Amino acid sequence: MTNPAPPFLPRAEVVVDLDAIAANTAVLRERVGRPLMAVVKADGYGHGMVPAARAVLAGGADALGVAVLDEALALRAAGITAPLLAWLHTPGTDYAAALAADVEVSVSAEWALDEVVAAARATGRTARVHLFADTGLSREGATTAGWPGLVGAAARAQADDDVVVTGLWSHMAYADAPTHPTIAAQVRVFDEAVAIARDAGLTDARRHLANSAATIALPDTWYDLVRPGVALYGLDPLGGDPAAYGLRPAMTVRATVALAKRVPAGVGVSYGHTYFPETETTLALVPVGYADGVPRAAGNRAPVLAGGSQRTIAGRVCMDQFVLDVGDAPVAAGDEVVLWGPGDRGEPTAQQWADAVDTIHYELVTRVGGRFSRRYVGSAGAI
Ligand SMILES: *Cc1c(COP(=O)(O)O)cnc(C)c1O
Repeated sequence: MTNPAPPFLPRAEVVVDLDAIAANTAVLRERVGRPLMAVVKADGYGHGMVPAARAVLAGGADALGVAVLDEALALRAAGITAPLLAWLHTPGTDYAAALAADVEVSVSAEWALDEVVAAARATGRTARVHLFADTGLSREGATTAGWPGLVGAAARAQADDDVVVTGLWSHMAYADAPTHPTIAAQVRVFDEAVAIARDAGLTDARRHLANSAATIALPDTWYDLVRPGVALYGLDPLGGDPAAYGLRPAMTVRATVALAKRVPAGVGVSYGHTYFPETETTLALVPVGYADGVPRAAGNRAPVLAGGSQRTIAGRVCMDQFVLDVGDAPVAAGDEVVLWGPGDRGEPTAQQWADAVDTIHYELVTRVGGRFSRRYVGSAGAI
């Protein structure tokens, strides 16, 4: 085999299409015809939080949502001034920092509201608060039993100008199964929670419930604002083809073959010899592994594009590398391997990977990282 020729491809990179993120945002906002809070937590679902935030804003997002305060502060430090909600806090959270950065916060319990009020008094600012109702996910939020107390305390704090309740919200357990009976039940509990809050004088808060799946499939859950995440990145939360909704995957994960070699039939491949080629063949070594977020469960299961066709990873995924059996295809060191992408060059999609390794695409895109570099294409939101 001949020596690889320049130009050389990067060893391993995640390519993020900012224009796809912006276009997906515009498609969703058009679909719902009302404000959209774009969720950019978890490093923008692995796409890069700040570039993703700029791209969704370029696509028409009205606000941003993140899980934790550190994420919100990082967005502010990057100069992003859009309305911004952070919702997952522990006791002792620095709400003064949230107030100083004009970050809205979610509150699920009276003790947390007390901390927010204390920060408001200490800083002389009014905190913008979203009250979280647990309508059946049993995750964040106040239960039906705790809700009237939380609402009453928030109404008093609002009367004192310590807080203004700008949101009433909840999160769904089964939005990806659009006929599931929990959906109507959660909507009913949410409507009751909203009524209790309005009776207590919290009349200006916007109601929001819909994640990506609900934004796509459940118009009854759209209320005053939708709150999609994964669909912004072009992945279908319902597990189907995102093109059916005009969405395009923004992430391509690619690597470069580090070594290719002919081996005889029957050699044992990778740790534990879980793969043996049946004939003489070419093995190609791909320099990414589970330390880079390629799941170990992908061994002998997940497809990649190499040498013009999709091939299943041969043997175990190691920490830094895995092997492909490319048969007699003329694959050589320096050639491209695509793990997943939009699918239009013949590469697998993140959904195909998720099916192959028995997870969801959310987990794949948020975990890929490690020693992959990231490269942005498209101009949406670029500065
Ligand atoms: C992550 C998250 C979302 C976005 O969910 P997707 O399924 O990615 O659309 C919305 N709301 C809350 C509370 C979340 O934690």
